[in-house]
Amino acid sequence: MEELELKLKPNHFKQSSDVEKVAKPILNDVTKLANICYLLIDKDTKYLGKCCVVSKEFKLLTGYDYLIIIQKGYWKSVTLKQKQALLFHELEHIIFKPTVADPGMGSWACRRHDIEEFNSVVKRFGQWDISVSLMEDALDSYKSKDKKVEPKPKTRMEELIEEQVNLN
Ligand SMILES: [Zn+2]
Repeated sequence: MEELELKLKPNHFKQSSDVEKVAKPILNDVTKLANICYLLIDKDTKYLGKCCVVSKEFKLLTGYDYLIIIQKGYWKSVTLKQKQALLFHELEHIIFKPTVADPGMGSWACRRHDIEEFNSVVKRFGQWDISVSLMEDALDSYKSKDKKVEPKPKTRMEELIEEQVNLN
């Protein structure tokens, strides 16, 4: 009798220690406590990065609390600062929600974006909503910080050398 052969389609996800290394220094007091699995996806996606809480079954089997998935093509083509900003964005989705009955206990959840808006609305109506004003404040705060301490941006070559050193 002939043996049945099943061929699986390729899996485009791969765990990435490179992404994890970039994330480590930007973890905060909360995200430090989450068990995060970093994946690169080698396929065109609508997103550059994604952060999701895992199911209880997945948690039981793997110990992970979150998956952070980064688009590989994008990751390979951008500067270290862009990688850090993208990862910082994904990490900002992580939140620990205490239960009402017992605040000592809680669960991991996914935080929504502070703002969802079209450029055209802001162009026409300015800070029509508090979320737009807060985004403007954030940008102003970054710009004033920028003048004071921001060092000269690194060249791609300097970054590659730095990345190489970090890998060794
Ligand atoms: Zn997001």
